[in-house]
Amino acid sequence: MTHVTINNLTKIYPGTDKPALDDLSLEIPSGELTALLGPSGCGKTTTMKMIAGLLTPTSGGIAFDGRSILRDKPEHRGVVMVFQNYLLFPYMSVADNVGFGLRMRKRPKQEIAHRVQEMLELVKLPDLGDRKPSELSGGQQQRVALARALIVQPKVLLLDEPLSNLDAHLRFEMRDLIRSLQQEMGITTIFVTHDQEEAVVLADKVALILHGNLCQYDVAEAFYRRPATEEVARFFGGHNFVPGLSADGRFESALGPMALPQGARTGRGTLTVRPEAIRIGKADENTLKVRVSERIYLGTQTRLKLTHDEATLDAVLSPDAVEGIAPGDEIDIHLPRQALWVLEDVA
Ligand code: ATP
Repeated sequence: MTHVTINNLTKIYPGTDKPALDDLSLEIPSGELTALLGPSGCGKTTTMKMIAGLLTPTSGGIAFDGRSILRDKPEHRGVVMVFQNYLLFPYMSVADNVGFGLRMRKRPKQEIAHRVQEMLELVKLPDLGDRKPSELSGGQQQRVALARALIVQPKVLLLDEPLSNLDAHLRFEMRDLIRSLQQEMGITTIFVTHDQEEAVVLADKVALILHGNLCQYDVAEAFYRRPATEEVARFFGGHNFVPGLSADGRFESALGPMALPQGARTGRGTLTVRPEAIRIGKADENTLKVRVSERIYLGTQTRLKLTHDEATLDAVLSPDAVEGIAPGDEIDIHLPRQALWVLEDVA
């Protein structure tokens, strides 16, 4: 198992002046799955290519178990990268594709055949070894690509948007398969995605990168409960941001005084609460009257737009909770203390 350390990693492509990746530092523990999450162009693939040795960093370091790998050739790093467009060898059978890495390592034929069959069973394609990649569905091709990567037991597995070409149903299936294989084999894995849900479901820890900068590196839950900035909260679907002043365990703002959880930041700041944490009805604390300005049907849930003085709040509630509530109504809501979080005022 391999511990990955990324230190102040920066890449400025020739002919550009803005870094594609700016000063990234991450510790990825042995056997864990880390997601690099961010919108298109934020520098995710650039990071992966530097780890794989396909690109040279402008500055910074990458070490496996404390030893720098920057001087190692790509083929000596023990890294395998799986791209979104599979890149299987079209003229080779599925079995030959899967066994490719072991043939390159000159393993005995019998061992290769045995390991290939083992891998095909693991990715649930035990009977398709004789087919050509063109005779497989997209999802099956992706499984073959995964088997071909895992068979060499890499120190580090890099998955670059491996699910983006699959339809929703297959994505779920592959997600579960990747997670179970990764855990079973204990391979340190870095997974690139622009899909927040995918990152949250798959990863032990998520690194959110926006405009080439690391914004937060944490367990998934922290992005919902303790976002580092308003931009992070917004990326994770946060909507409610109310400016005010935090002092003595209370937040004063257009919402009125709100009791804060222990450890909340003090001074000028922005109060945030997840739309799905807002509750209808009164409670012992943090209750306020709001006017319903809009009601939007979301399918399994309903979004209410609420106003109180100058402040607006978005609440996402179950069908039961919003029954009989219409635009124009005045209702009581409460904001559970533990769901509140104060962001630093950066303005
Ligand atoms: P996507 O999700 O679309 O793959 P990404 O987060 O992986 O995006 P990168 O491919 O790492 O983003 O690109 C980061 C930035 O670097 C982008 O602004 C991109 O235009 C730029 N870039 C990538 N490759 C090169 C290159 N060879 N020369 C110059 N700029 C590049």
